[in-house]
Amino acid sequence: MHCFEQRRERLRSLLKSAEVDALLVTRFTNVTYLTGFKGEDSYLLLTRHGEVLLSDPRFTVQLEEECPGIEREIRRPGSPIVGSVVRAVLALGLRTLAIEAGSMTVEVFQKLNSELAAVTIQPKSGLVEQLREIKDKDEIDEIRRAVEIAERAFSVVKASLRPDFTEKQVADALEAQIRAFGGDCCSFWPIVAVGPRAALPHARPGGNRIEQSSFVLIDWGARGPSLYLSDLTRLVVTRKPPSRLEKIYEIVLAAQRSAIDAIRPGAIMEDIDAAARRVITEAGYGRRFSHSLGHGIGLEVHEQPRLAVDQKRPLKAGMVVTVEPGVYLPEWGGIRIEDDVLVTKDGCEVLSRCPKEFAQCFIG
Ligand code: ZN
Ligand code: ZN
Repeated sequence: MHCFEQRRERLRSLLKSAEVDALLVTRFTNVTYLTGFKGEDSYLLLTRHGEVLLSDPRFTVQLEEECPGIEREIRRPGSPIVGSVVRAVLALGLRTLAIEAGSMTVEVFQKLNSELAAVTIQPKSGLVEQLREIKDKDEIDEIRRAVEIAERAFSVVKASLRPDFTEKQVADALEAQIRAFGGDCCSFWPIVAVGPRAALPHARPGGNRIEQSSFVLIDWGARGPSLYLSDLTRLVVTRKPPSRLEKIYEIVLAAQRSAIDAIRPGAIMEDIDAAARRVITEAGYGRRFSHSLGHGIGLEVHEQPRLAVDQKRPLKAGMVVTVEPGVYLPEWGGIRIEDDVLVTKDGCEVLSRCPKEFAQCFIG
């Protein structure tokens, strides 16, 4: 069975246990996950026995290419998508309809409620997202590809880094190399932070030049051709750094290794966060690790699950998470090391291979 069909079958069994006739999938990444269709402005109405993709004439050819077997309803140009939903729900005689509470606008919700007065509309959260947590083989292959593209781009950019480059030029160069290696684009606008700017975990790349400090923090990722993403962070050292840099780097690296060692099916998510946090806290920088340890990655750069305090669920084989401890010292700088990790049947596999020993951070 094709992977998209399998995903829809799994969703159908969730509909059955939720006791609803159908789910209207309005989140475009969820539509992509369930059908392979990469366009926007289209909903999937999935019933217990079938499905129909509600789209518009701009996508007719693309739909044929990307999900040829799927029944579709193409609305007239300019007519609102809500009309398609109403027609399809009535034609199928649905009595209960689940909607995605996290994605539908209040406006659409109100329209559906007034035009489908005889239908019970039930907002639901996370039905498709819970499936997306566990990656199937095709998805793991796509994430591997996104990691590889990001790493190749990074090694070219790192090797050609010049002292007069600005943060923005480095970000632009990463984007260009990601495209050159077959990626669509960056998975998010890269964080390129020279020296003190690295104290901001989400610094925007600006006009600071590489030569203004002895180090630069780069957080980047690639979007592969099938829309799957990678998300990595490395430190680049451009000349003799203050001794404190190595000291903190080794703490962050030890924290990351301790977390990765703890990743296996059944391990509790918050315990993985705690494994890294313990190392940083014992070294005296606990308050400087100001974010959670990691997040799921796939079609979105931040998705379920989370490696964070209060996440009491167990990890499962097939999850892909980032592991990214950091230490941030205002006005001095920050260090984060981030890799993408697949939970396997008996432990885990670090998908990213970019060197990360302190000595390997140096250029030139
Ligand atoms: Zn990142
Ligand atoms: Zn991340």
